[in-house]
Amino acid sequence: MLSCAWHDIRRELGMEIIEEHTVMEYSKVNKKCEKCGHGEAIYYTRQMRSADKGKTTFYTCTGYGHPSQEN
Ligand SMILES: [Zn+2]
Repeated sequence: MLSCAWHDIRRELGMEIIEEHTVMEYSKVNKKCEKCGHGEAIYYTRQMRSADKGKTTFYTCTGYGHPSQEN
């Protein structure tokens, strides 16, 4: 379902290497989805392979699974 979006995100961030899901944190937050307006999202952070990039926070809305991210 999300494979295309995830592929795009990984390409964009240079994360091709990371295939295994190295989930650091994982929880729900009240965050409005920019695409469908859903008010709740799952978020989790991943440590980037390139250390200078630090952590990126990923959000997936629980309505339709729209991904977004914050650096
Ligand atoms: Zn959404």
